[in-house]
Amino acid sequence: VVADQYQGQFPTQFNDVHALPGIGRSTAGAILTFSGLGAYPILDGNVKRVFSRLLDIDQPVTKPSVEAQLWDFSQQLVDAAADPYSLNQGLMELGATLCIQSKPQCLLCPVQSHCQAFRNGTPHRRPVKVAKAPIPHKTIAVGVIWNDQGQVLVQRRPPEGLLGGLWEFPGGKQEPGEALEDTVRREIHEELDIHVQVNDLITTVNHAYTHFKITLHAYHCQYLSGTPTPMAADAWQWIDLPQLPKLSFPTANKKVLAYLIRP
Ligand code: SF4
Repeated sequence: VVADQYQGQFPTQFNDVHALPGIGRSTAGAILTFSGLGAYPILDGNVKRVFSRLLDIDQPVTKPSVEAQLWDFSQQLVDAAADPYSLNQGLMELGATLCIQSKPQCLLCPVQSHCQAFRNGTPHRRPVKVAKAPIPHKTIAVGVIWNDQGQVLVQRRPPEGLLGGLWEFPGGKQEPGEALEDTVRREIHEELDIHVQVNDLITTVNHAYTHFKITLHAYHCQYLSGTPTPMAADAWQWIDLPQLPKLSFPTANKKVLAYLIRP
């Protein structure tokens, strides 16, 4: 961008620097201040931590109103600084060397006498963290359904939605209080309208998706009766075991498959 739009000369106006790809407000302020092109506030992650302690802020720094307060504070400091370069450099260094996340070195800190958190005994509790929502966990039970010819029944998920178009062993989510074998029987009946006998557990695998985790229990099942009629899948087939790896499966099902075809 600098080569194309600024004839190879790095811009010197704040708005132009800020508009460059990958350069946020704090980086733009640091570049210009350290280049002697003005006095701009900075607020990178380290500086946020320093300010949250200097002001002893008891709310998460990710909160927009708190972030605005921190920018105001940074602006006030830079406006009052005789040497904005040294101020911003000092703030960044302080956050990187002494006012660190764990074990802040308050006894060595040159701004200790200005620090409200130090006065209140709260540096370890600042900045306040937002409690992360727990990642949902689902318990899944599936059946590897065998027919009398030694083939396995698999179904294909519809093209749209999570894991769309991938093949899988039929099954689903365990209901509260339900035995895993009953989950397999119920889900297979609901999904394919067939009856199976649930036999031994093959394996249990864990897998993490972006927004949830699963524990998947896979059982050997014997096909008993009914014509497979998929309710949620868009295809199904009986397939010989050696052919299974040729199909595309989701990761958790692949882990089950590895148990089935291991030497
Ligand atoms: S006194 Fe401690 S908490 Fe306060 S700015 Fe210095 S190192 Fe950080």
